[in-house]
Amino acid sequence: MPYYLALELVAIMLPLLLPGRATTEQDWTWFAVLLGAAVVQAELSAQAERMRRFFASNPHVNMTSVWLFAAALLLPLYLACALALLMYTHLWWRVWRSVPRVRLYRVVCSAATAVLTVAAVVLVVQVPPSGLPAMALGGVTFMVVNGVLVVIGFRLHHPSRTITSLVGSWAENVLEAATLCLGGITAVLLADHPAFIGLMVLPVVLLPRGELGRELHMIAVHDHKTGVLTVGEWRRRAEAELARAENPCGVLMIDVDHFKRINDTYGHLAGDAVLAAVASTVTSEVRNYDLVGRFGGEEFVVLLSFASDDHFVDVAERIRHAVERLTVSHSGTVIEDISVSVGVAVYPRSGPALDDVLAAADKAMYRAKNQGRNRVRAALTEPDDLDPTRGWVAAPPP
Ligand code: GH3
Ligand code: MG
Ligand code: MG
Repeated sequence: MPYYLALELVAIMLPLLLPGRATTEQDWTWFAVLLGAAVVQAELSAQAERMRRFFASNPHVNMTSVWLFAAALLLPLYLACALALLMYTHLWWRVWRSVPRVRLYRVVCSAATAVLTVAAVVLVVQVPPSGLPAMALGGVTFMVVNGVLVVIGFRLHHPSRTITSLVGSWAENVLEAATLCLGGITAVLLADHPAFIGLMVLPVVLLPRGELGRELHMIAVHDHKTGVLTVGEWRRRAEAELARAENPCGVLMIDVDHFKRINDTYGHLAGDAVLAAVASTVTSEVRNYDLVGRFGGEEFVVLLSFASDDHFVDVAERIRHAVERLTVSHSGTVIEDISVSVGVAVYPRSGPALDDVLAAADKAMYRAKNQGRNRVRAALTEPDDLDPTRGWVAAPPP
């Protein structure tokens, strides 16, 4: 709270105390054009922005930067700050008010952050050099000051969030840099042809949609509890991989042993933590391009590409050993003795449907269960799994 109050106080005092240049009639024209463009763009982006607020991990990337950066490059300090305040008031009223996750005090804080960011840019671009270097320096100042203020504010509020997660992904920061480039173009356009600013509105409305689409896609294809692929996405990618694979691929069916007991002993939230830990162990034991998915409750599937049959069993054993060593801490309790049973089946170059191989891996997994759990069994080494009519006999039983 003291940080937020200090931020707001400085944001109010700074434009009033710092000397700015005299306001001309042209400044008022620029101010009106920028405010009009910002309002129209915000109205057109309202729906997409609400969705971004629901999903985006990074709180500081938004399209207001285009107009704010142009204002910081052209307007006197107090006028640029007034624009920031009016824009945030409008955004709160029309866009964020209806998003449950966005609280009014956070928006006030964001507005104060925007004012301070704009003030920093106005001060930086006043000193030489001018022209493009000044704009570049202003852009860097914008990103750094805005980023630092937001990260401090969020860290105080959510101490568990890492700095890296708050700084945001590479894609989100590139998007922010792109908005500042558009802001620079807006300033140049405004100085000579203010009426043409209307041409900037549509690109600014459309720019974040690519990023929103990427975020929605990531949410849609990943299981939210474990971070691995959803079963539908795993199937889609596995079928595409098998269609182009030139070598046999391996399918692993992995089932956590006595998982119900873990839930019953430690609770379902602890069970979820174990599932997430097993998923990340499986992921870290395979290569980046192998596909890991959540098949069902406590079952995971893996598609391993381009390896020999022995290697598939080796990978399964490696996963089994890694899970055996796993300890999961949840609410002060340490959970140990976690194990998995793994069934391995091989998908030859031309042969059965994915479901047949999955069924073979599943059958091998149940064999591992019946023989005592915490072990790996391969469909290939069991004569009753071989199906000569489909031609996928790959190795004799040992
Ligand atoms: P087995 O060794 O034979 O596989 O025994 P098991 O207890 O692991 O298998 P069972 O099928 O009896 O129980 C699976 C349990 O997994 C039952 C279900 O409540 C639990 N489960 C399924 N999905 C989730 C989930 O998302 N979170 C949690 N915490 N539990 C889940
Ligand atoms: Mg199961
Ligand atoms: Mg189980």
